[in-house]
Amino acid sequence: MHRKIYPRPFVFLLALAGSTTLATSVCAAPPITNRSAVSSRPSVEKVFNRINADVQKNGRAYETLADASQRIGHRLTGSPNGAKAEQYAYDLLKSYGFKDVRYQNFEVESWMRDTVTLSIVPNKSDNYRDLKVVSLAHSPVDAHVRGEIIDVGNGLEGDFKALGPKIKGKITLINIGLSAAKGARNLHRSEKTALAIQYGAIGVIMVNLVPGNVLLTGTASVTGKLIPVPAVCIAYESGVGLRQWLAEEKKDNLHAVIDMTNTSRKIRARNVIATLPGSDLPNEKIVIGGHLDSWDLATGAIDNGIGSFSVMDIARTFRKLKLKPKRTIEFVLFMGEEQGLLGSRAMADDLKKRGQLDNVRYVMNLDMTNDPNGINAFGRDDMVQFFKSVGETIQQVEPTFGNQMTNQAGLHSDHQPFMIEGVPIVGMNGHLTREVLDCYHANCDRINLANRDHMQNTVRYSAMVLYALADADAIPTRRLDDAKTRDYLVAQGLRTPLQIANEWRWKE
Ligand SMILES: [Zn+2]
Repeated sequence: MHRKIYPRPFVFLLALAGSTTLATSVCAAPPITNRSAVSSRPSVEKVFNRINADVQKNGRAYETLADASQRIGHRLTGSPNGAKAEQYAYDLLKSYGFKDVRYQNFEVESWMRDTVTLSIVPNKSDNYRDLKVVSLAHSPVDAHVRGEIIDVGNGLEGDFKALGPKIKGKITLINIGLSAAKGARNLHRSEKTALAIQYGAIGVIMVNLVPGNVLLTGTASVTGKLIPVPAVCIAYESGVGLRQWLAEEKKDNLHAVIDMTNTSRKIRARNVIATLPGSDLPNEKIVIGGHLDSWDLATGAIDNGIGSFSVMDIARTFRKLKLKPKRTIEFVLFMGEEQGLLGSRAMADDLKKRGQLDNVRYVMNLDMTNDPNGINAFGRDDMVQFFKSVGETIQQVEPTFGNQMTNQAGLHSDHQPFMIEGVPIVGMNGHLTREVLDCYHANCDRINLANRDHMQNTVRYSAMVLYALADADAIPTRRLDDAKTRDYLVAQGLRTPLQIANEWRWKE
């Protein structure tokens, strides 16, 4: 057995068990052999084996996603489809035997697309050319702008700085992805739009760098509120053609005309929450969630059908196996994620208001998580060994599990409202092929992209990590206080994106 310098409790466990896997729960556990004699709690490895067997035999994450996609279609928050999806999740969790299933209502400015056109014309000419286009969410309800096109390339801070005052009063052309910017960290389309507005642009044309005439949508607002200028997406091929035309035309002579109408009104949406009460530490809870809502261009199979329907199947597994971990688990289907993390913000704000955030010992978020081969400790160094050992125990049960640990925090999904309040976050490291990722938020994100076996792996491995957290005698990390949260976010390189998003609450 290899001996490593571990935090105190681990040394105890390893010495007894003779391997680095988890014997029972993490700390101060009596040796495996005596365990069953002294307590009725099953060993973690035993539970992992049961989860493994059940998911492979009875897993229905893929089947329920296919059924919902066929019966409901897209799951846009605030739309009739969105409400159907909330009901579907509620009924499914009830059908799995959860006594405590509830809706968490929240109010949201719900944006929905209507009409949009984009025409390109040289100045003082009527040689208009229309381009295929979709509106980005939270664009104005009514916009008719005409202006000179200015190419801002990848739309990173440096690109804007380089053009500076030249941007004012023009329509910016910006790549959604990064082109020829090796090693640069991309900004979210909403952050690029915020920069364009800061520099005085009157409109934003975003180029999707995925070939194949793929149009994508998504929010262009960092706050989830309406933005003052129209933002649209054009396909890669349209972007190439437009840049050629820009190059051919005399400088500053090509104009764009954007006409759009949309609706935006306050509606009620509902997170769906199923609760499994804890046996020994009921006041402490682990939240596992994934957003159920999707955009309306397709049926949101990958974003985020594979994550949210995996969460519901993890819930099924826990009920089916009658697992009774020490801590309470909340299985949460968030809504409003695509519109700006609105469901998860509502939940985090509510917990903060009621002084309950300290009880949230961990949040696990499954957003586009597929076929995980490792755990992401999200920048919590004091948890790396815990998760490494969990991964090693999973490997005992399923040797094909890669246990590729990472330890990096990120933004732009439902863990964010909890993370910026200091709550510990864990993610699962999955993978998606280029072909699948190219349909992100696009009109091709459909069930044919989902893989049944991959979803099954997401369910079984995430369920094991969840159980290890919920049943650990002690979790080595806790919610950070305000100052430590700030330092953590700085250390994770998240200050700038949070400042752009007006989410940085610290003075410096
Ligand atoms: Zn998503």
